[in-house]
Amino acid sequence: MGSMISNYIVIVSISGVLSALLALFAYYKKTDFAGTRAFILSSLTSAIYTFGFALELSGSTMPEISFWIKVEYLGMPFIAPSSLLMIMYFVGLERLIRKGLVTALYAIPFISVLLVWTNDHHHFFYQSMYFREGAPTPLIDVVMGPWYIVQGSLTFGCMLAGMCLILWQWNRMKRVYRRQLFTIFIGQFLPALGAFLYLMDATPYGMDPVPVIMSITSTLYIWAILSRGMLTAAPIARENLFESMRDGVLVTDLSDTLVDFNRAAADMLQDLNASAIGKPLAQLFLPAGQDAVDYVMNSDPLISEERELGWNMNGETRYYQIRSSPVQKYGGHQVGRMIMLIDVTERTLLQEKLLQLATVDSLTGIYNRMHFMELSRALLNEAALSLAPVSVILMDIDFFKNINDRYGHHYGDMALQHIVTVCSSHLREGDIFGRYGGEEFVLCLPGTSLKQAALLSESMRKDIERSSISTLSGPIHVTASFGVVEARGKNLSLEDLLSEADHALYTSKRNGRNAVHVSSGSSITHFTPV
Ligand code: GH3
Ligand code: MG
Ligand code: MG
Repeated sequence: MGSMISNYIVIVSISGVLSALLALFAYYKKTDFAGTRAFILSSLTSAIYTFGFALELSGSTMPEISFWIKVEYLGMPFIAPSSLLMIMYFVGLERLIRKGLVTALYAIPFISVLLVWTNDHHHFFYQSMYFREGAPTPLIDVVMGPWYIVQGSLTFGCMLAGMCLILWQWNRMKRVYRRQLFTIFIGQFLPALGAFLYLMDATPYGMDPVPVIMSITSTLYIWAILSRGMLTAAPIARENLFESMRDGVLVTDLSDTLVDFNRAAADMLQDLNASAIGKPLAQLFLPAGQDAVDYVMNSDPLISEERELGWNMNGETRYYQIRSSPVQKYGGHQVGRMIMLIDVTERTLLQEKLLQLATVDSLTGIYNRMHFMELSRALLNEAALSLAPVSVILMDIDFFKNINDRYGHHYGDMALQHIVTVCSSHLREGDIFGRYGGEEFVLCLPGTSLKQAALLSESMRKDIERSSISTLSGPIHVTASFGVVEARGKNLSLEDLLSEADHALYTSKRNGRNAVHVSSGSSITHFTPV
């Protein structure tokens, strides 16, 4: 019997050594895992507890044994709260670890230590202690005091909470982390089971089996650290991942009813809050506009599609790439779909700006020459097929150099803007208006005959003549000369048409300016409305 006890003491001591080793391992492991400190604490306190227990077993007198029990209590009450904190870090609940929680978890153990060391004066932890009869070695039995129950509840509560957290996270955790999670679970479950059996008096000779069990769990932990990369980093729980995404995600079931969404999505769609769960998707996209609703409702849920749309969010227009894709279960059958919203506002605005810079004349706001040519060429091609008339007008401001010379460049610029304003008021939708060069403008008019274009030029000419630019040095009057040509039936390129219009314009200039001349190919004539 004596040798069995000494074997037992050896096993318990080995368990203590393993716990101490575990604490050292964890301490020297370079790690990003925030729960490492809690893990070290739980290993270290386990080691204190286990060594204390080994010495308790080897003690023979009551004062000796009760001293070692006090030593055990320097470690034991802290093990379970530390393990719980470590598990919370591991399953990604660190946001719940606040000062208040940590204080609450460690306050009871601290009080327990104080009460155990001063128990002789108040018997608040143990009511009494006595030698167990018929035990193979001097073993002490205790009659629990009130605080013993408080401490016991905390220990079991923490262990149970830890196990529940692990089970709760099991399915959410990526498979690669499940082995680590399993190790932690066993590390909780076996000691809890041992402690429970001990409390139920179901262990041999009423001995506490927990220190021995700890030799198994410590070995398991050491193995997990060395071969499984445990404590390297905490896995990121899927929920956290979903919530911290920058892209908005909405998940629906097969009937297109909202079942889940993340924080980013709530920032992208008005009225998307907890009460939106269970509502039809179309209704949730209503604040984004009819286009968005149409896209969401008409996109085929069976295939992945995407589309870019803009809508008003908090008073400004934001642009989103919307992507709809099916959500499948492991078996491959569809259970719903996912709508992803990616904010592309910066990119879209930049693209718009670049397009503007590339196509629009910055001074007057009308098309630049290059873009005018591009659009007009397309228009001419279209018109050639439908045999619709198209006319081109070239216009040049008269004696513009004088304005610059007399009033300065700034007023020259204002004159250019003024002319554009006057001419724009004569244009219809579809007409293409561009700045051809310095003070030369060009128009390409679909569905417009030579006569109509000449009349239009004449009314623009008159308007320019009649209007004036008001300046500090008095009103400035300008006039302009026009050359008009029609494309129909000529099969000419845009460049040819422009050159013909230029001849007509040149004729206007030569014949005294402030005039409209039309070119009919063979001849150029002065246009005078009848
Ligand atoms: P004409 O009646 O024969 O057309 O005489 P003009 O003085 O209008 O023609 P000219 O070609 O001799 O001069 C055009 C002037 O337009 C020269 C140039 O300095 C001026 N100009 C060109 N672009 C701009 C501009 O963006 N702003 C200003 N203020 N002036 C410009
Ligand atoms: Mg000029
Ligand atoms: Mg000119």
